[in-house]
Amino acid sequence: MRQNFSNYHVIHLKKMTGRFTKKFKLFLLFDTMLIILGLIGSSLYQSVPSSGTFQEGIFLPVVMYHSITDFPNGDYQVTKEQFAQDLYYLRANGYETVSVGDLYAYTEGKGELPEHPVMLTFDDGFYNNLSTALPLLEEYNMCAVVSIVGYYTDETAEKDPHVDRYSYLTWEDVRILEQSGRIEIGSHTYQLHSNEQRAGCSIMYGEDPEQYQNMLRKDLKKLQERARTETGKAPIAFAYPYGFICKESIPVLKELGFLCTFSCREQGNYIIRDSNCLYGLDRYNRSPDYDTEEFFTKILQPDL
Ligand SMILES: [Zn+2]
Repeated sequence: MRQNFSNYHVIHLKKMTGRFTKKFKLFLLFDTMLIILGLIGSSLYQSVPSSGTFQEGIFLPVVMYHSITDFPNGDYQVTKEQFAQDLYYLRANGYETVSVGDLYAYTEGKGELPEHPVMLTFDDGFYNNLSTALPLLEEYNMCAVVSIVGYYTDETAEKDPHVDRYSYLTWEDVRILEQSGRIEIGSHTYQLHSNEQRAGCSIMYGEDPEQYQNMLRKDLKKLQERARTETGKAPIAFAYPYGFICKESIPVLKELGFLCTFSCREQGNYIIRDSNCLYGLDRYNRSPDYDTEEFFTKILQPDL
């Protein structure tokens, strides 16, 4: 198990060396942290089904955004101008956004995908996904997945709503996003967006799998039920907090109706006619440190 984990990182780092020279030191630091976490929790990243193989399927890059703000601070915020440039670049280069519904239909043999598909995702459920991102998605005729943290929407957003820079989406905001027809609301757990006790929502080293699954089920169900009550729909997409995947989570996610899950491993995906390939889709974080062309030139190339 640990061997597999290490091999993955050796391959991953070799790829990174060629493709992300500028940021290599930061990635190295990040990967080193992941390796340490991997040694602590033996289940992280192990035996998780990957999306297709390198030689088959339709190539799908997935972009991970968080906050769109004119005061970016750190690796998880981009400016409105950068986001607009991203959408302009994708449209100008013939890319079309796809939804989880589109992907699922394709995997079930009930639909086709565009020639150059791309998926846009937003994690954490920031209010600026509504105030800033949605109007631009409308302008460019694109769609996205916004994965909310139930606790942030239930508690944090209500106390200090509608500040572009830091507020989270209220349920009223979530309804507006969903009714736009451009946004699928995903789950980012109800209250497991933390590294305090465990790495995100993954199993801890030595934890009984059944107890873990009961804990996870209870948390995820809470957001599914809140979303159903507030919007009439339960999420079908799930974003693992911090990208920490474990195989024990998969049966629970399937049982609760999730059709697609997202990691944070930075590589592309290959979509095949098998809906299992939608569990653990890899994503590229859109850091503000790249300009649009530099970022997309790197991520839009198949990893062959
Ligand atoms: Zn998050």
